[in-house]
Amino acid sequence: MMSRKNPKTHEIVLRCGTIVTMNQERPVLKNMDIHVQEGIIISIQPSRSCPAQYPDLVEFIDAEEALVIPGLVNAHTHVAMTLFRGLADDLPLRQWLFEKIFPAEAEHLSPETVYWGALLGCIEMIASGTTCFSDGYFFQGQTMLAAHKAGIRALIGQGVIDFPAPGVSDPKKNLEIGEQFIEKWLNFSDLLTPSLFCHSPVTCSEDTLTGALDICRSHRVPLQIHLSETQDEISTIVQQKGRRPVEYLDQLGLLSEDLIAAHVVHLDEREMAILRDRGVKVVHVPESNMKLASGVSRPAEMIRMGIPVGIGTDGPASNNDLDLLMEMDTAAKLSKVYTGDPTSLKAWAVLRMATIGGAAVLGLAEQIGSIEEGKRADMVVLDLQQPHLQPMYDPVSTVVYSASGGDVRDVIIDGKVIMKNREFVSLDTQEAAWHVRRIAENIHP
Ligand SMILES: [Zn+2]
Repeated sequence: MMSRKNPKTHEIVLRCGTIVTMNQERPVLKNMDIHVQEGIIISIQPSRSCPAQYPDLVEFIDAEEALVIPGLVNAHTHVAMTLFRGLADDLPLRQWLFEKIFPAEAEHLSPETVYWGALLGCIEMIASGTTCFSDGYFFQGQTMLAAHKAGIRALIGQGVIDFPAPGVSDPKKNLEIGEQFIEKWLNFSDLLTPSLFCHSPVTCSEDTLTGALDICRSHRVPLQIHLSETQDEISTIVQQKGRRPVEYLDQLGLLSEDLIAAHVVHLDEREMAILRDRGVKVVHVPESNMKLASGVSRPAEMIRMGIPVGIGTDGPASNNDLDLLMEMDTAAKLSKVYTGDPTSLKAWAVLRMATIGGAAVLGLAEQIGSIEEGKRADMVVLDLQQPHLQPMYDPVSTVVYSASGGDVRDVIIDGKVIMKNREFVSLDTQEAAWHVRRIAENIHP
């Protein structure tokens, strides 16, 4: 199975039963080999009968009884919040955030706890098919190290908020610390991009918001924000600023292609048109919005208008998992029940949000998000030998409506096999779980 003639040439071949490429022109391919060299998909061609026909082969993955999809992109999360999974459920957002989560973060977040929480979250994401994520939190240098250790791709935003925050005791220094974070990590890894994450229009002042955008622009990285998540946010901003959050941010000059806005639940038609005209990227976060009863976003309408839309889980304290396959199922069904239209947000549209759509939101669509020659090799193999995945009339339907994270068999990120036959190749997955359990022993609801 293995032959290594040239150790510099890392070649992988997946022999595929079925590939969902997410390439519009050739969406589903059958009986093909995907040939990966130095992290890049160099060819997709009809299967050769024998691995020995690839002279520099390092690894051969038999995916004949499997379904290969692009690695999933979780476009909005706070991954270290695995630490607070299940700590405070069934509460309204304001009470959940101000009475439970902020105090728990103030007391229990440290570089050490964020590292283990983030590593556990990265392991959970990889094991359920996510190969790239976008994050916003504190002590984000630790999330960088955890993501690097796990071998996952990410956009990692240092949290910016005008309160004393973990690692940022003086809020006047939040932008200075944010800029130092970007400068420190900008050239750390090809897979990892630092950015800033402004918590919300309510918790960040005008100067903080515009200052954060200036810093991100000067380093050519995106700015992330929570936007129009709850009615409470809308009425607070209307009361304070005399206009709704989207108009308020537009007046500040914040709305542009540099902005990734998560949630975006409460929008009128005019606000939607403003987001489209300014090129803002949007992340739909259905399960967190459902759990906190924040409301229902309208991704189908936004996609129809030409707004780039990805999908995210949000942090595991408001979901409570990071399983993007399950999130897709929820997104499709929520859209149907909300609109009363079963044709709303079809399976293909949802899978686009979780792959090439999410990649576009993160500014990575040239590199990842679809299985095409020339792209980086981020791919996920689903085990089709599962009773609930039989039969398969339409592979996209199988992925969105029948599969869940537990069906992920192999994961390849940037041409490296990270998980094979559900075993992580080089990561001790129990170590992170052990540390998080130990940390959780001191956290009390
Ligand atoms: Zn969030």
